[in-house]
Order: sequence, then structure tokens, then C-alpha cells
Amino acid sequence: MMYAECVVRGLKVRIPFVCRMCGECCKKLSKVVYDPKTGKVYVEGIELDCIDGLDEFKEFSHPIKVPCPFLKDNKCTIHEIRPKSCREYPLLTGDLGVNCPALRSFNKFLKAFNPDKVEYKVDEKDIKPVKIPMKFYELFISLEPSKEELAAFLKLNELEKNLNLELSNTIKGP
Ligand code: SF4
Ligand code: SF4
Repeated sequence: MMYAECVVRGLKVRIPFVCRMCGECCKKLSKVVYDPKTGKVYVEGIELDCIDGLDEFKEFSHPIKVPCPFLKDNKCTIHEIRPKSCREYPLLTGDLGVNCPALRSFNKFLKAFNPDKVEYKVDEKDIKPVKIPMKFYELFISLEPSKEELAAFLKLNELEKNLNLELSNTIKGP
């Protein structure tokens, strides 16, 4: 899971990045390279030798294949071992001209929270939610997140009633 760990008015809140599985980044930014001299396939300089269907790479007329050949039905067929740049896209890499719809949504959330500090978290596992005040929840809801974005927000953050009073009137909506 990718998210931004933010500090807003001295309190933590996590803003989720929720991929929409549109496949646009994989259609435009493949890092897969076939070297006809060695007959091998590389991703970011690392040789791949354990992927089914490698023979189809040998039909490439150009060494760099875009869309990425690992994209099938808008899904990554090597998700578990996908390249670092794919794991980090777009939070650590930037949009790179793709116009990622999930990044647009994420940036809208980030702008509304206007954090004092932001740290991007990529591929985080076993996440324990942080406690947030009701105002943060209300602000997030007012930004009209999708069902998936709201579910991710609630996985990362837990409502803490006691924090509600302290922060009343200190956070403004968009
Ligand atoms: S362009 Fe953005 S939303 Fe679409 S698949 Fe890539 S990361 Fe996900
Ligand atoms: S390896 Fe997977 S995530 Fe990376 S560009 Fe190809 S299909 Fe997309």
C-alpha cells in the first residue's frame, strides 16, 4: 500500500494513494528491455529468466517495448516481482507525463490537508492505523473520495473521539 504520512497541526494523518488499475502508466512507461545480442530480457538492468512466455519478447522490433509486455487485461502479470520504479510510481517518481487519475485525486487530498510535513510510504505492510480527530475524517469525506479511497483512509486512520474537541475550528475545509 502507498500513502503519505502527514503531520497536520502536530497530529498524524495518513492520505492513501489508491491505484485505479487503468494501466496507463504501464502503457506509457515500460522499463522492460530485450537485448537481441544476448537474447535476454532485462528490467532496470536485471535479467529476467523465470517468466513464462519470454519467447514473445524475441519478436520485438525495438528493444524497449511499450506498452509493457507484462500488462495483460490491465493487470501486471509479474506483480510480486515488478520493478522498483513500478512499485514507486507515481509517489516517488512523479507523474512522468502519464496524467495518472489516482495521483490527481491523491494530490487533491494532500492540498486540502495542507500538511506541515509529508513522508511517502511505499509497499508498507502490517500497518497499524494512527488515531485521528473527527475533523480530519470530515475533511476527507468532504473531498468526495471514491469507495476504495475511503476504505483505504479508514484502514490507515482510526477515529479518536478525544481529539475532536482539541481541534475544533482549527481545520478548514476546501
Ligand atoms: S496511471 Fe495511475 S491509476 Fe492508472 S494504473 Fe498507473 S498508477 Fe494506477
Ligand atoms: S512490470 Fe508490471 S507494473 Fe511494471 S510497467 Fe509492466 S505491467 Fe506495469
